[in-house]
Amino acid sequence: MKVHEYQAKELFARYGVEVPRGRVAATPAEARAIAEELGGKVVVKAQIHAGGRGKGRLVAEDGTAAMFARLTADAAAHEGQVRGERVGGVRLADTPAEAEREAASILGHHLVSIQTGPEGRRVQRVLVEEQSAVARELYLAIIVDGARGTPLIMASTEGGQEIEAVAARDPDAIARLAVNPATGYEPYIGRTLAARLGLAGEQAAALGKLAANLCRAAVESDASLAEINPLAVTADGRVLALDAKFTIDDNALFRHEDLAALRDRDEEDRLEVLAAELGVANFIKLDGDIGCIVNGAGLAMATMDTIKLAGGEPANFLDIGTVNDPSRVVNAIRVISEDPSVKAILVNIFGGMARVDVIAQGVIDAERELGLKLPVVMRLVGTNLAEGERLLAEAGLDVIRAESLGEAAAKAVAAARA
Ligand code: GDP
Ligand code: MN
Repeated sequence: MKVHEYQAKELFARYGVEVPRGRVAATPAEARAIAEELGGKVVVKAQIHAGGRGKGRLVAEDGTAAMFARLTADAAAHEGQVRGERVGGVRLADTPAEAEREAASILGHHLVSIQTGPEGRRVQRVLVEEQSAVARELYLAIIVDGARGTPLIMASTEGGQEIEAVAARDPDAIARLAVNPATGYEPYIGRTLAARLGLAGEQAAALGKLAANLCRAAVESDASLAEINPLAVTADGRVLALDAKFTIDDNALFRHEDLAALRDRDEEDRLEVLAAELGVANFIKLDGDIGCIVNGAGLAMATMDTIKLAGGEPANFLDIGTVNDPSRVVNAIRVISEDPSVKAILVNIFGGMARVDVIAQGVIDAERELGLKLPVVMRLVGTNLAEGERLLAEAGLDVIRAESLGEAAAKAVAAARA
């Protein structure tokens, strides 16, 4: 689960990670009042769960797709505007009146960045912060390194730009330091980071303290990502988090009621929210056009791979689990059918604990309840296959059958293109 920048900064502040003074506003008048409190010169920042806001653009709802196409076609032509141009999702304002005006042109509009996708995101809040005199922009993040099984601290002198681009250009420009889970953060890590970032004296000490506190915040919150980009070194020598991204492992939310309360459903994928509401547990929206209904996470991954091998693109990951109630299948089809990009559905079931007849009944019920408008390819094997076959034959359902997964994927790709 992602949280907003302002929420991440409130958390950082509680852990002693230095952030600019500021508060969140939902109206232009509130933004003005906060700017007055802060002494006038502020940064007004759109709060959405996507990065690249500084280089994004605000448009009306019907203009998001065209803007996304423009931004992705020529990212370089839309370079930053914090300094000067007032068009992106991060703007400088020198007076409270300006802050109010900038907030008014951000709030309620759709922000499109190269990370939002073609739908953009409607901005409902802005963070109003004191301006910082930035001397250097660094990068600092903590992620969970699944391969090593440790937190991993990453740092770079190339802050303020996408770290993926830095990694692609020059992997050595990113320092990587593992945190031993048994000992936790150790001071040598801060010293090593400071040396790699070219910080000495008080700044090195400040960085060490900040990294230690960030590490504690991340570990105690079960974060899978805590990212500060840019980490600013100010003209007066302070080290502070200008931006903040924080992602909490969904599987750990049960033990963080306070963090779970930060969830913003408006920022989450519409289909994933619907899936959760309908109890279709393991559903992840993807960008392709073939909807997948599969039992078992491993088989779901293999099905996605096979679709790609056949030249297609899966529209979702879905592990429907051990189904003993046809309504689960109906709900899965309901969610998939809500996705306008889906052109065909592939049902791939390896019946073990899950019974093929229950799945077949689910597809039959879906046809009755929803009226299946999409071609459905079914590959069924395993428990109660004969009974499933009988049900499908009796219902006279118009589905495309396949014997093997390879054949099913090829038929789904063909059906999606037809
Ligand atoms: P992002 O584009 O979504 O990653 O949003 P950021 O919070 O990183 O803001 C984009 C850029 O705005 C940063 O890389 C900074 O260069 C700039 N910026 C943000 N806050 C300030 C500030 O207080 N002072 C100055 N001078 N620049 C800022
Ligand atoms: Mn940033």
